[in-house]
Amino acid sequence: MNKKTVRDIDLKGKKVLVRCDFNVPMDENQNITDNTRIVAAIPTIQYLLDNNCKIILCSHLGRPKGEVKPEYSLKPVAKELSKLLGTEVKMAEDVIGESAKKLSANLQEKEIMLLENVRFHREETDNNPEFAKALSTMAEVYVNDAFGTAHRAHASTEGVAKFLPAVSGFLIEKELKFLGNAIENPERPFVAILGGAKVSDKIGVIDSLLEKVDTLIIGGGMAYTFFKAQGYEVGNSICEIDKLDLARELMQKAEQKGVKFLLPVDTKVGKEYDKNTESKTVKCTEIPADWEGFDIGEETIKLFAEEIRKAKTVVWNGPLGLFEFEQFAVGTNSIAKVLSEIDATTIIGGGDSAAAVEKANLADKMTHISTGGGASLEFLEGKKLPGIECLQDK
Ligand code: AMP
Repeated sequence: MNKKTVRDIDLKGKKVLVRCDFNVPMDENQNITDNTRIVAAIPTIQYLLDNNCKIILCSHLGRPKGEVKPEYSLKPVAKELSKLLGTEVKMAEDVIGESAKKLSANLQEKEIMLLENVRFHREETDNNPEFAKALSTMAEVYVNDAFGTAHRAHASTEGVAKFLPAVSGFLIEKELKFLGNAIENPERPFVAILGGAKVSDKIGVIDSLLEKVDTLIIGGGMAYTFFKAQGYEVGNSICEIDKLDLARELMQKAEQKGVKFLLPVDTKVGKEYDKNTESKTVKCTEIPADWEGFDIGEETIKLFAEEIRKAKTVVWNGPLGLFEFEQFAVGTNSIAKVLSEIDATTIIGGGDSAAAVEKANLADKMTHISTGGGASLEFLEGKKLPGIECLQDK
């Protein structure tokens, strides 16, 4: 990575503002149900502790849309972090108000505090310079370690870097290493698996991956647009009628580039969008009217598995079916299992595919699971991420 990290500047004893991604899932009683993102922030925080820094952490949580809403308070995160670090994390009552200012002004070496949810201010997502400046005045150095929001130009992810020396933390460094290597220097064969609901969300990434991969595997809801584009009936399956030309262009591009473009051959269809709906497996060219494709079928699993077993690098983004319903999670789980068994670099591009891998208890068998769904997708697309561009070059 050509961006400076916490290792590349002198931080000793300094007051450091760290943007983390503490956007963790919580139940209705504000109990954290998955602390993965908090755990992922610890190496950077520990490094800063070891360097006697005064540490000011900040993050967003959910979408409070510029209002103070107690259900989006970061207090439970401060508690969890205190537990994990074995040291107190002081919680500010606000973001740039009296409480935050007072706590940060009195912060001693090796002390940690957490600001309230930055999205309690609309100025955060507006990337308001005054707000960014107010954040910056509390610290001497800015560290961005929130990969999950690195594709957003917000005040705490980008704006603040205009006022302070800005470097990355270890989490962003690690994400860029794995995602970057896969894209720039993949061991071949390089196979990408793309699923998820809509083609329109993934056009950019399909287009750019066609320049890099040996094989592109398409599953999930977006496969039906490709079938429709070839003139087949797709019943009630999700299909983007206005993207048929584009689907044809992408298939043509694959052919021109010599990229193997694999679509499902069979699909598990259901009567309606219900977890207990009646279902059956049919050929993708024979989807009956009134039925809806919710998963890849057994033949497809075999076909995809065979291709994936040849790979030396695999990037996967998006579930291959409606995996939230058990009977339509078979395709996604089977492919996750294949990935867990092969001797290859396996990279899971965040979001739902990461959730699926975790649900299948296979997370520790993957080379890298990205902590950012949208961010990893934009990175794979070749887009510049504002939260990384704003950091100092090496
Ligand atoms: P995305 O955010 O685009 O990666 O899409 C993820 C969502 O796509 C998940 O909620 C899946 O349940 C859904 N999905 C995947 N395949 C299908 C399908 N065949 N029909 C309906 N939804 C699907």
